Order: sequence, then structure tokens, then C-alpha cells
Amino acid sequence: MKSLKCPKCGGTLEAIMYEGIEVDRCCQCKGIWFDSSEAENLKKLKGSEKIDIGHLNTENLTETETLDTNIPCPRCGISMIKMFDLDKHPIWYETCPQCQGIWFDAGEFKKFKDNFSQPKLLSKAIRVFGLRK
Ligand SMILES: [Zn+2]
Ligand SMILES: [Zn+2]
Repeated sequence: MKSLKCPKCGGTLEAIMYEGIEVDRCCQCKGIWFDSSEAENLKKLKGSEKIDIGHLNTENLTETETLDTNIPCPRCGISMIKMFDLDKHPIWYETCPQCQGIWFDAGEFKKFKDNFSQPKLLSKAIRVFGLRK
């Protein structure tokens, strides 16, 4: 399998497995690439935030990136769309309009996951997985 390049820093993405779900993490900036439904699946898994080993560097973000920055999809090479999530933690992430993949900078997946840990939204997960907040 051809290794993907990080859309942000050009580093190599290495495949990591968590509970049978494969994601690609940049060996340099620790950003994480999820293919289409992987982020949704992982979000529901207890402890999956462990794959997000980096820390969100907000200073770096504002210096090197603006809303107009085009981040190419590591798979398709086309510009991804910026998504905002302001539920609990303000984060932005990129999603590819073609393959539906999602890119999270280091530290963002943890927050993304946390955004969906609200009691109302978690009620289904509690029934299915026995998770407790
Ligand atoms: Zn990178
Ligand atoms: Zn794509």
C-alpha cells in the first residue's frame, strides 16, 4: 500500500490500528486522517482518543493557516472543505467532498470526540456500549 503524505506538513502518514479500525497518523505533526466513516466509528469507541497523541498547537495554527488555506485531500488531492464544530470545544477540521475523509490536526480528534459526549447524544452509546460519562 502506498503511504499517504500529510496534507499539512508533507510528512509520511503511518497506518495505525485501533480496535480493528485503521487510521493514518502523520509521523511529524501527529495529525490524523480518517477515511469516510472511520471518524464516526472511532468516536463511539471507548478510549479511541488515545490515537490522538499530539497536542493542539493553536499558535502554530493561526500563524500558518487561515480560512483561505487550501488543504489537499491526501487521497484525492482536491481541496478539502473546512468544517467548524463549536458544540463544546471550538475546533475546525477538514473534510474531503469527494471521498468524505476527514483530517484532524493533532489534538482535534480528542475534542471532536468530546463534543459528542454530551449526555443527550451519548444516551444511545450508553445503551449500546455501556459507556459512562
Ligand atoms: Zn503532518
Ligand atoms: Zn478525498
